[in-house]
Amino acid sequence: MASKSSSLRVLFVTTELAPFSKVGGLGDVAGSLPKALRQAGVDVRVVTPAWPGVLERAEAAGLKTTTARSKVYAAYDWRIHSANIIKADVDKVPTYFLKAEDYSGDMYPSQLNFWTASPFAVFCMQALELKDAIDWEPDIYHCHDWTSAFLPCALAWHRHYRQTGGKSIMTLHNVAYQGVFEPSPFLDASGLEPWSFNSSTMEYYGQVNLLKGGIVAATAVSTVSPTYANEIQTYESTRELSGILYQQRSKLRGIINGLDTKFWDPVGDKSIPANFSVKDLKGKAACKKELLKRAGFDTESDAPVIVCVSRLVEQKGFDMVFNAAKQIAETGAKLIVLGSGQDWIENGMLQAQSSYPQSIKLFKGYDEPLSHLLYAGGDIFLMPSVFEPCGLSQMISMRYGTVPVVREVGGLRDTVFDVDRPEGGNGFTFLTCDVDGMMWALRRAVERYYDKEAWKKIMLEGMREDFTWDKSAGLYKEMYEDLMQ
Ligand code: ADP
Repeated sequence: MASKSSSLRVLFVTTELAPFSKVGGLGDVAGSLPKALRQAGVDVRVVTPAWPGVLERAEAAGLKTTTARSKVYAAYDWRIHSANIIKADVDKVPTYFLKAEDYSGDMYPSQLNFWTASPFAVFCMQALELKDAIDWEPDIYHCHDWTSAFLPCALAWHRHYRQTGGKSIMTLHNVAYQGVFEPSPFLDASGLEPWSFNSSTMEYYGQVNLLKGGIVAATAVSTVSPTYANEIQTYESTRELSGILYQQRSKLRGIINGLDTKFWDPVGDKSIPANFSVKDLKGKAACKKELLKRAGFDTESDAPVIVCVSRLVEQKGFDMVFNAAKQIAETGAKLIVLGSGQDWIENGMLQAQSSYPQSIKLFKGYDEPLSHLLYAGGDIFLMPSVFEPCGLSQMISMRYGTVPVVREVGGLRDTVFDVDRPEGGNGFTFLTCDVDGMMWALRRAVERYYDKEAWKKIMLEGMREDFTWDKSAGLYKEMYEDLMQ
């Protein structure tokens, strides 16, 4: 007889899926957690939109795709939306890419309104309809962030879907993004019952808030680190959803993200000039040299290289970084940043670069291969986030022997421990969210770097951390099983 866990069927409903579509951490998680869950015996499958370029990237990665004979249909805004179902096994995870006119624009709209939010609602309904087309019915729909939060709302409040009795989990990768827009004509066109729009459900200052609806409607809610799960019940970074999260706390749990440790591995990484490992660190020096060369700095310099790979948005604390440009330059370290985002932050960083061209370099843009070189070639990884649900970059940097300097917040607090604690640690942390706080930790790191023995010990501590998904996949499985009780 099949065991309980092997019969547990979970559909991941996600609008990002690394390496085919990724904006941030959600893409990484959707690309790696299902693999670990399958290994843990859960029959997990993934559905995701085939945004422009996604199928081309899947093909380039050598995936064998087949187009299902039947399409999937959803009724929304008084018409039928159909999508082709293109199936591929991604590392043995059955994955359904939905290809339709609805997904032919930019992945995420810059302005949210009824029309630009429609693809996300349509996607959720098509995910609910998929079962008939693929002859496989999930026990649980596992949704992620506001972009698939319409699904739990539909299961709770849609005229048709609320009769179907499905279970859903809402995982919060970042509560600051909520999917907020004007209610008209959404309430009429979505098929949700009119009573679903009130202050204890999805109404939010007169607007629709999909994430709020998803949190209230889902059978269970999780977020991506234990500390963030506590913080969001009181913390301002939720843009005022903390009251709802506090109210819903009995169904909320925090499970730390893992990494795709095969993909992020200095031993086998093909996008870095030399490989290295815990046993043999020599290759890291070649990576540093190449990074200094790419940045236009003296390749013989022994000064510590501080790196950042990040979206340049307020959340990541980069105003502290450019406001500290002078102090950073005065430490003698080099700062190399890869990122793009809000204009005022990009401009601040560009200004810092032009004021201290011998010390600061900004690579503006999103560049996956270059990010590997920064992780591998850096000495110190700086991540001074104002808030951080989990953060993957600090874990990646530790895998590559680049010592993190982080603010003690959210998932950073759960993964980086200050070396100056009596029991030792794997990085440097600070709490006060200002230039002085950050520089206090950064200066300690820069000074310690010159003590080669001590530094090596810290590097190895980070490289030896277990960032696999094994433990967290077990916790997700437990959550699924609890839901099926
Ligand atoms: P968030 O999800 O808030 O953006 P995370 O630390 O959880 O932050 O994940 C960020 C992911 O995106 C990491 O894999 C990081 O390497 C990647 N990333 C961020 N900015 C860039 C960039 N400019 N170029 C390449 N990769 C980037």
